[in-house]
Amino acid sequence: MDIQFNENVLKRFAALEQKGQLAHAYLFTGPAYIGKGATALAAAQFLNCGHKDNAGGKYFCGECPSCRKVLSGNHPDVHVLEGAPGQTIKIDEIRELLAQSRLRPFMAERKIFIIHHVENMTIEAANALLKTLEEPTASSLLILTSAVPERVPETVKSRCHTMPFLPLSRRELAARLVRHYQEEDGAAHFLAYFAEGCLGKARRLKESGIKQKRDEIIDRFILGREREPLIKEVAADKEKTRVFLDVLLSWVRDCLLVKSGAGDNRLVNADRVRDIRGFQRQFSFADLAALHAELVHTCRLLLENLNVKIPLMIIGERLWAR
Ligand SMILES: [Zn+2]
Repeated sequence: MDIQFNENVLKRFAALEQKGQLAHAYLFTGPAYIGKGATALAAAQFLNCGHKDNAGGKYFCGECPSCRKVLSGNHPDVHVLEGAPGQTIKIDEIRELLAQSRLRPFMAERKIFIIHHVENMTIEAANALLKTLEEPTASSLLILTSAVPERVPETVKSRCHTMPFLPLSRRELAARLVRHYQEEDGAAHFLAYFAEGCLGKARRLKESGIKQKRDEIIDRFILGREREPLIKEVAADKEKTRVFLDVLLSWVRDCLLVKSGAGDNRLVNADRVRDIRGFQRQFSFADLAALHAELVHTCRLLLENLNVKIPLMIIGERLWAR
């Protein structure tokens, strides 16, 4: 069973269904990779599972033909508009999807429509969707998802029940990585630091080789004082800049912790503790705190889509001032 789904949300679905109070449309909101998609699919499995009563306390069996078909994307009554962040959803796509809602379900009690990244709908697409939201059919359920709910038209939002997905605490996320993905404590702690409370993001970071990327930044930039081409390469890509800044932040944070006498197990980069010890000795606490503040400020600039190449240079100079 995919444990990336949000159990609290599924629990709510189960309670609503039992009371016969399931609404026709829900909007899942929360950051990317927090499990909105996995939860929408889990809800579809739950609502259509043929062996729900024998699922042994789980919400669905995961093995009946219905459950399998949902997962493989072949369920005739579960329709998903996947999309991508920033990719426009056009009216034709919505129309095509919703044309199915007028047909009776083939094998399920309910037809389920899942539309991701709904903030990317054109006005025409949103209007077409609104029509469906105004005339729901008894046998259909619509699940919309968005990581930027402030960009979803108010008219759509007001017709949906919003279910917010909240990031896990760092500690909770690390515990889940250990429990469900057999990560070692140190690795789980490290991934949880970068994943901003999102289990899916932690998995993705691991697959993308975050640890090697971190080592490269530490060895080439922090310790190796290699300015170009690293900054140039990093600053050209917002995602890379984000990782770069996160690595520097984790490094400086660890230096501050070591300076305050904290135990190694609290360090994000515990496997690099020798380098951290050596590095922090060359700075005063105040220097490191100032560096930390500078990094936080640069993260904010990045969030505002400002060019951070010069701030990165300045941070480099400070790091190498020893
Ligand atoms: Zn099942």
